[in-house]
Amino acid sequence: MSNEQPKIPQATAKRLPLYYRFLKNLHASGKQRVSSAELSEAVKVDPATIRRDFSYFGALGKKGYGYNVNYLLSFFRKTLDQDEVTEVALFGVGNLGTAFLNYNFSKNNNTKIVMAFDVDERKVGTEVGGVPVYHLDELEDRLHEGIPVAILTVPAHVAQWITDRLVQRGIKGILNFTPARLNVPKHIRVHHIDLAVELQSLVYFLKNYPLE
Ligand code: ATP
Repeated sequence: MSNEQPKIPQATAKRLPLYYRFLKNLHASGKQRVSSAELSEAVKVDPATIRRDFSYFGALGKKGYGYNVNYLLSFFRKTLDQDEVTEVALFGVGNLGTAFLNYNFSKNNNTKIVMAFDVDERKVGTEVGGVPVYHLDELEDRLHEGIPVAILTVPAHVAQWITDRLVQRGIKGILNFTPARLNVPKHIRVHHIDLAVELQSLVYFLKNYPLE
């Protein structure tokens, strides 16, 4: 992100990709402006939060006019570095890893998985979704500075060991899909997505906090 960009709160930053995707669709359909109520309905964020978020971007909606779609889009594009593709490495070409490789985020995102690693000899040397699969032994040789992000879809018991090697290699962020809690130095960001826990929690909320 460029230094000229205003500093925006983390909670706001997390909503940016959501806004961006919706605005891109609006733009594609030829819409020039959008109200916070319309946006709110589409992205399921309340209008007050949207207005506050957008005020950080210097986008002040006008009453009865709404927000200028082009202005917002160019702001998001700059802020999210849409012109710059971030390369990602994936570890563990199992069921989940294979799904990510086939999906590869490229349709609506600025990230691209460029290589994958596994230890299974039947997978090493193949390509999945056009992405080459290397042996984990090659991690240090293959993973270079241009790849700041790793996705972990390996069994939990090897997650920390791989993480330590990634840290040594200068990785900056890890998207951890294993149930393992990872220890990393402070300057490394880990986002943890435990699908089983997310699903259980949804079921729990459905049972205990039913919506109207
Ligand atoms: P998933 O959990 O994605 O559904 P799965 O059930 O097919 O996968 P897992 O046992 O979870 O299989 O393993 C995921 C993948 O991680 C497999 O392809 C496996 O070969 C690979 N794997 C196992 N150990 C390592 C390791 N040390 N480094 C890299 N990959 C590994």
